[in-house]
Amino acid sequence: MKVAVYPGSFDPVTYGHLDIIKRASQMFDKVIVAVMCNSAKTPLFTLDERVKMIRESVSDLNNVYVESFSGLLIDYCKKENIHIVIRGLRAITDFEYELQIAQTNKELSHNEVDTVFLTTSLQYSYLSSSVVKEVASYNGDITPCVPDFVADTLYKKYGFRK
Ligand code: ADP
Repeated sequence: MKVAVYPGSFDPVTYGHLDIIKRASQMFDKVIVAVMCNSAKTPLFTLDERVKMIRESVSDLNNVYVESFSGLLIDYCKKENIHIVIRGLRAITDFEYELQIAQTNKELSHNEVDTVFLTTSLQYSYLSSSVVKEVASYNGDITPCVPDFVADTLYKKYGFRK
């Protein structure tokens, strides 16, 4: 069985992430979306909130599971016996950082963990969680970027009702 893990902060999940998850779910037998709880960034949403929003968004994909993890990704992979990591690439600006992380994970795992990159679908190439949060914080329209219930949760966080 081909199992892959898609790790990230998902603060919050966007249509860009969901597009990657859906495409990965068609390539692998099982995809685990692993939400990081030790990100260097201070997240807007709690780990539970982020996990819940993704679970609700992928409820129609029956080979996708949403979990959380802390510590090194390669330790999580070892524990779960996973050898494939999925990451999304939006632009050349993502590439340098992603390449470094992928090579680090390969090296640290003694070649047990490889990274598969999926390139963004063009209509989502501008999308990032940070941009979505910034627009929402000014009560801007984020409905093209995230599922409706994620948009509602974001507006509530910033004290807006929509
Ligand atoms: P990080 O893991 O750096 O905190 P995110 O949680 O925002 O990043 O994203 C997780 C993964 O999803 C990363 O590989 C990122 O490049 C990818 N990603 C984010 N937004 C998009 C998008 N719009 N299209 C494709 N991939 C994306």
